[in-house]
Amino acid sequence: MITTELRKTWKNFCVEHDRAAKEWAKRGYRGPANLPPFPEELRGMTCGAKTRAGTPCKQKGIYGNGRCHLHGGLSTGPVTEEGKKKSSMNWKKRRIFIKDERIP
Ligand SMILES: [Zn+2]
Repeated sequence: MITTELRKTWKNFCVEHDRAAKEWAKRGYRGPANLPPFPEELRGMTCGAKTRAGTPCKQKGIYGNGRCHLHGGLSTGPVTEEGKKKSSMNWKKRRIFIKDERIP
């Protein structure tokens, strides 16, 4: 199978697994988890991103986006309204910390 298709299968599996896990948590972890079976073709899948040397990345620990911790891409920052509000309040937390520690 082509790697782009594998990556798509991986992403779909992660989304499905997260949905099933959340549903299970909602039930208080009672009863069967009903998690989707791991697709065998994804076993041993690597990141595959192009490295600076021009070779494909060999990392096997990959996230839900199908890439490793080095090639997952930059954070796009807070997306939800709640997240943006929380992020905007971070400067205030720092100021309170400085005040408490009595740093000039
Ligand atoms: Zn990588």
